[in-house]
Amino acid sequence: MNIQIQSVSMTYPGGKAALREVSLSLGSPCLIGLLGPNGAGKSTLMKLMTAALLPTGGEIRIDGQPLSKAEKALKQRLGYLPQSFGLYDELRVYQFLDYMAALKGISPARAAVERAMEAVNLSDLRKKKIRTLSGGQRQRVGIAQALLGDPELLIFDEPTVGLDPEERIRMRNLFASLAREKLVILSTHIIDDVQSVCGQLAVINRGKILFSGSPEALTARARGHVGVWLGEPGEDCPLTVTSQTHTADGVLCRGVAGELPGFVRPAEPALEDAYIWMMQEGSV
Ligand code: ADP
Ligand code: MG
Repeated sequence: MNIQIQSVSMTYPGGKAALREVSLSLGSPCLIGLLGPNGAGKSTLMKLMTAALLPTGGEIRIDGQPLSKAEKALKQRLGYLPQSFGLYDELRVYQFLDYMAALKGISPARAAVERAMEAVNLSDLRKKKIRTLSGGQRQRVGIAQALLGDPELLIFDEPTVGLDPEERIRMRNLFASLAREKLVILSTHIIDDVQSVCGQLAVINRGKILFSGSPEALTARARGHVGVWLGEPGEDCPLTVTSQTHTADGVLCRGVAGELPGFVRPAEPALEDAYIWMMQEGSV
């Protein structure tokens, strides 16, 4: 499966330009991370990809077909976790998934529901009412419904919100294994979610794609812009601090800047440095 996003713009009825001339090429199998701060346009882009919204400019093509013409076919190949996902609080986990399977026209539903619950480790909670679940458990129910019917395109909008560290790692592994065969797109503002698992990253800010490519290529963008130094960063620190570590010698700071000041020691960039650097660069 192949998704071509061609100069897509989205201006909401109130006049807010959420996306401006966004172009991206996505092809399976791959795990693609859409990375950007709140308000960047991630959810808008995902809604456009699922045909839940129509762009005000440009076009999206799925396997060469305009999405506007292939919408029905797409829905059968798609699993989608929206950012705000209403769950039916009074239903039990398996009842909810059964219901979602019916809406998707999956039959027999039973095996599909079992597989989806197993994938997100919900089988033991199957009889629990959704109302009684923790935030992370609810999020897993949301992920499970997207997996129903084994769709070849999976779009997860901030799937790791509310998950504890252990659940996060489990989800990350699940996404990576799904992406061996499918096109899996996830949005996040957390670098850890995409570090080491995504084959492709797209960085978005203020409705524009700032970068698209491999994590290594993104990291390389910050080369020469990352430095470390010992001491507390002051008010007038010329670098944007990306981390502070307490060591036996004092606080070891790490930061990014266009030009490194003399007091820092240049360092190899990490993905997080590159992301912060890109946000800073993109805003000038
Ligand atoms: P993200 O998912 O990256 O946080 P969104 O796509 O939700 O970003 O939002 C991008 C921009 O569009 C934000 O400025 C947001 O306030 C605005 N926006 C989102 N949805 C709507 C809407 N339905 N009507 C008007 N503006 C919206
Ligand atoms: Mg969002």
